[in-house]
Amino acid sequence: MSFQANYFDGLSSRAKPVLVRVAEHAKNITFEADGEKLTFNLIDLNVQAKLGTAKRLIDLPNGGKLEAFDISELEAVIPTKASAFWRGLYYLENHLGWVLVALLATVFAGWLFLQFGVPKLAEYVADATPPAMEEKLGEQALQGLDSSVGYFSPSKADPARKASITAALNSLCVALKDCPKYRLEFRAGGMIGANAFALPGGIMVVTDEIITLSKNDTEIVAVLAHEMGHVKMRHAFRQSLQGVLSGLILAAVTGDVSSIGSGLPAALMQMRYSREHETEADMFALNAMQKACLPPKAFADILQRLEAQMRGEDDKTTKKAPLQQHSNSGADVISEMLASHPDTLARIKPFLATKQNCN
Ligand SMILES: [Zn+2]
Repeated sequence: MSFQANYFDGLSSRAKPVLVRVAEHAKNITFEADGEKLTFNLIDLNVQAKLGTAKRLIDLPNGGKLEAFDISELEAVIPTKASAFWRGLYYLENHLGWVLVALLATVFAGWLFLQFGVPKLAEYVADATPPAMEEKLGEQALQGLDSSVGYFSPSKADPARKASITAALNSLCVALKDCPKYRLEFRAGGMIGANAFALPGGIMVVTDEIITLSKNDTEIVAVLAHEMGHVKMRHAFRQSLQGVLSGLILAAVTGDVSSIGSGLPAALMQMRYSREHETEADMFALNAMQKACLPPKAFADILQRLEAQMRGEDDKTTKKAPLQQHSNSGADVISEMLASHPDTLARIKPFLATKQNCN
C-alpha cells in the first residue's frame, strides 16, 4: 500500500514529492526524501481531520509534514486522532440537513433571547440607570416630537380647561399619596390625534384632541392615571432600552447599523407596550380612581369613545378619494390607550364592575 504526497521537512518551505509506503504489519510508514530513508511509527502520526475537499495533512514527529489528496490507504490502518469537534464539523459539512437544523436552532435561540432575554436585560439596565439620565432621555424625546413634522405642535386647548385638568390630576395624587414624580404637558396631537403618552422620566403628554373628545376632567384624569401607571413602573424607559438593545443585537447579527440610527421620535410613536404592561397600567388607574373617590366608569367611557372615533375615522378613510387618504386624520395611528388591546370590552370590564368608592 502506498500513496503520493508532498513532504515538507519543517525547515524549508519547499515541497518534496514522495511515495509513502504503508507497512501494516510493521505499523509504520516509510518514504525517501533527498536520498534519505525516513520511517515513522503509525502511532506517532497526527492525521489532521478532513475538511471539505482540502488536502490532507499529516504531522510527523520530526516536525515535518506530509500533504496528500488521498490517504485512504493510510486511514484504513490508522484511526484519525481528529477531535470530536472537527469530526462533527466534517459531518455537518457533508449533511446539509444538519446544517439547516443548526441554522434554525441559531435563529430560534436568537428569537428567544430577543423575546425573553432582552426585556429582562432592559429591566436590569433600567434599575441601574440613575433617574436623572432617564429624565434627560424623556426631555430629548419630547424635544424630538416637538420638532418633528407631523407630531406635536403647541396646544390650543382652553387654558382654563388645562388648569382644571392639572388641578384634578393633582388632587388624584394628593389622595393617592404615592404618585411617581411626573410632569404634565399639553400638545396639539397632529397626526397622532386623540392620545396620551408617558415618555421616559415621568413626562406625560396629553393631546388637545383627547381633551376635545372627553366629556369631563374625570375622563382625562382616568387616562392620565393609566399613563401614571406606565410612569410608576418606568415602562417607557424599559421599552426604549429594549428597542436599543434589540437594535444593537440585530445590527450585530445583520451588520445593518442604520436600524439603530432611525429617529427616536418615530421609534417612540411606534412603540407598543406589552399587554402585561398595559394591564399593570390599567390596574394602577383603577386603584388610583378608587382611592381618589372617582367613578371608574369614566375610564370605560373615554376608552369606548376613543374606539368609536377610531372606527369612524377608519370608515371615513376608506370612503375617501385616494389622494386624500394620506391626510393627517389620525386614523393611521392607534391611540396609546388602545394600542395593545384589541379587546376593549374585556379591558373595561373591571372598571364597569367596580363601584365608586368614597370612604
Ligand atoms: Zn398604556
